[in-house]
Amino acid sequence: MDTRTGLPVVGMVGGGQLARMTHQAAISLGQSLRVLSVSPDDSAALVAADVRLGTHTDLAALREFAKGCEAVTFDHEHVPNEHIAALEAEGVKVFPGSAALVFAQDKGRMRERLAAMGAPVPRWQRVGTAAEIEAFAEAGGGGWPVVAKAVRGGYDGKGVWMLAGPDEAAELVATGTPLLVEERVPLRRELAALVARSPFGQVAAYPVVETVQRDGICVEVLAPAPGLSESRALEAQQLAIDLANALGVVGLLAVELFETDGGIVVNELAMRPHNSGHWTIEGARTSQFEQHLRAVLDYPMGATTLTAPAVVMANVLGGAPGGISIDERLHHLFATDPGARVHLYGKQVRPGRKIGHVTVLGDDMTSVRARAVRAAKWLQEGV
Ligand code: ADP
Repeated sequence: MDTRTGLPVVGMVGGGQLARMTHQAAISLGQSLRVLSVSPDDSAALVAADVRLGTHTDLAALREFAKGCEAVTFDHEHVPNEHIAALEAEGVKVFPGSAALVFAQDKGRMRERLAAMGAPVPRWQRVGTAAEIEAFAEAGGGGWPVVAKAVRGGYDGKGVWMLAGPDEAAELVATGTPLLVEERVPLRRELAALVARSPFGQVAAYPVVETVQRDGICVEVLAPAPGLSESRALEAQQLAIDLANALGVVGLLAVELFETDGGIVVNELAMRPHNSGHWTIEGARTSQFEQHLRAVLDYPMGATTLTAPAVVMANVLGGAPGGISIDERLHHLFATDPGARVHLYGKQVRPGRKIGHVTVLGDDMTSVRARAVRAAKWLQEGV
């Protein structure tokens, strides 16, 4: 507890944009997020008052960080599971806990658990050799290409490879990365179902969204998912609620889904604020960042309803160097679209890196989407 305010201290491991935006939500709740950051230049370290420098793989640093925190949570899933278990054994409240987080850390464990629960997953297999990948491609009538994934540590499409044939399989296996393969799902589009769950067991579900990916990176999120039938939306929300309950998740759970002609299948789980939920800052009554804080502190959940009929978030990626400055781009954007809400993460610009996002709200999805995409492209490219 912060004795100056009488309000709780939440510690977030990782100093990226998710911690930065969680800090922003913490301020409204009378708190100041404590952040464990690798560098003083990290996105959240630039803005939070209580920043501890240290790495998430250092148990001693984690222990020191956790002292005086009501709850410890994460802005990424790279903290070694055994470190989380060690903190739990010492009485630290860590959310999500090690037993739940393992399913967001290890894609193999996640697929096994989901399959055991009867949740829909793509055909998949752990593999150690190129021959096993070939056999997988030939079995089941799917053929090439197949999708290979690093079992651990992937993000933003890093750790996902579309393999066209045996040569590419052999090349990838030679890198020594622990892998699984799965069928390339004939997807119509991608959806995400976001829920939050508290230790008390209260669960709140956000409207299901459509996520648009380019080169493995999420570029747009449309809320609510256009044209999604009510029954399919309820099915996706119920699936996310069932998973949160079954895995004992505390905090946010984002379930990334593929929509196919035959129904929905689960692609990925994330147990933290997620890019598919950034739209909630302006587009929902309670933002995902506040909801995550409420959940880990066992506060009652906030309302998840939309604040407008159509909400679109577009990511701003780092563009090519040169052109007019980001400051000048903001001037122009604010002049042309006063309704566009901009979030910049204070990150160094590198091509393709997520450096911010734009959210637009309105009545008509087509025009809202066009405005969000135009604004993000402008900030990214200056054209
Ligand atoms: P990351 O952990 O990097 O986000 P994902 O597993 O979410 O990786 O995959 C990134 C993207 O690659 C997905 O959003 C999707 O567009 C594509 N993808 C992943 N798996 C498959 C699959 N089995 N079939 C078709 N596309 C896939």
